[in-house]
Amino acid sequence: YIAKAGRRGMSVYEADGDTNSPARLILLGDLRRALDSGDQLSVHYQAKLDLESKTVVGLEALLRWNHPLRGMVPPSEFIPLAEQTGLVHTVTDRVMRMVLTQQRAWIDEGLEIPVAVNLSALNLAEPELDRRIARLLEEYDVPARLLEFEITESAIMQDPERAAETLRRIAAMGSTIALDDFGIGNTSISQLRDLPIDTLKIDRSFISDMTNGNEVLVKVVTDLAHEFSMVAVAEGVELPETAERLRLLGCDIAQGFLYARPVPASELPDVLATYGMLTPAVLLD
Ligand code: C2E
Ligand code: MG
Ligand code: MG
Ligand code: MG
Repeated sequence: YIAKAGRRGMSVYEADGDTNSPARLILLGDLRRALDSGDQLSVHYQAKLDLESKTVVGLEALLRWNHPLRGMVPPSEFIPLAEQTGLVHTVTDRVMRMVLTQQRAWIDEGLEIPVAVNLSALNLAEPELDRRIARLLEEYDVPARLLEFEITESAIMQDPERAAETLRRIAAMGSTIALDDFGIGNTSISQLRDLPIDTLKIDRSFISDMTNGNEVLVKVVTDLAHEFSMVAVAEGVELPETAERLRLLGCDIAQGFLYARPVPASELPDVLATYGMLTPAVLLD
């Protein structure tokens, strides 16, 4: 990850595994300042497409940090840091506000675009998370059904009972829940059945493995999703032949560089013009 960041921007910090290393503490201080300054953080949006109609059914919000010295710092570097320090609550609040501001602007133009926001394990442990989300939806006057929350299996497993309760309350408000990076964790099938999950996002590693002929896991997860009346989404689709195999396996939705990279909202009109968009009303039936 660090090497990737180094190629894209100027890397002035050495990476190491020590959470309390000076480099990590400096980066943490920088992130605090970024959250205060307001102009270093932005959200990029990546389209998700229905595999049959090849139209956009929604977007995933992905946080971007443009560091004044280092350039773009990847979320894989700063999100874990924010998670270890509790700063992730502020990060999530900021992401939700940026997304809701954007959705409000789209609604004013007559567009209802569902957006998925990533939550971390710490967010799920927050007792008032559902109330905080409800207040934000009210403040921006955006319907709950236009927000989806993506959570990982490991985030749920840190405290499954509590996570299930929080997710149930969020689902009751009308938002949907997606299980992110599914397949690499160890959620049991009975836990999966008991959680208010609407969508399974099949981990990218399974999708890239399909080019080596390993389709069985994708097939199993797709069928599992459908048995539980969930939608199956493939992450990291890069090749047309992968998309076609996914379609034949019955996978519902795909997300990946093949269709669109994560882009600033200003570039979304191009994506929407290329593929068109299913309205949420059409999605319901
Ligand atoms: P994720 O939620 O699984 O997001 C998908 C990641 O896969 C994104 O990386 C996206 O750019 C990348 N991706 C999408 N399509 C392709 C593809 O076809 N090929 C390849 N190689 N990659 C693809 P990104 O934006 O670097 O984010 C990485 C992770 O950081 C996310 O994984 C998520 O766990 C976390 N993250 C990003 N934004 C946020 C946020 O606002 N809040 C929280 N808590 N976590 C976030
Ligand atoms: Mg995600
Ligand atoms: Mg994912
Ligand atoms: Mg992933």
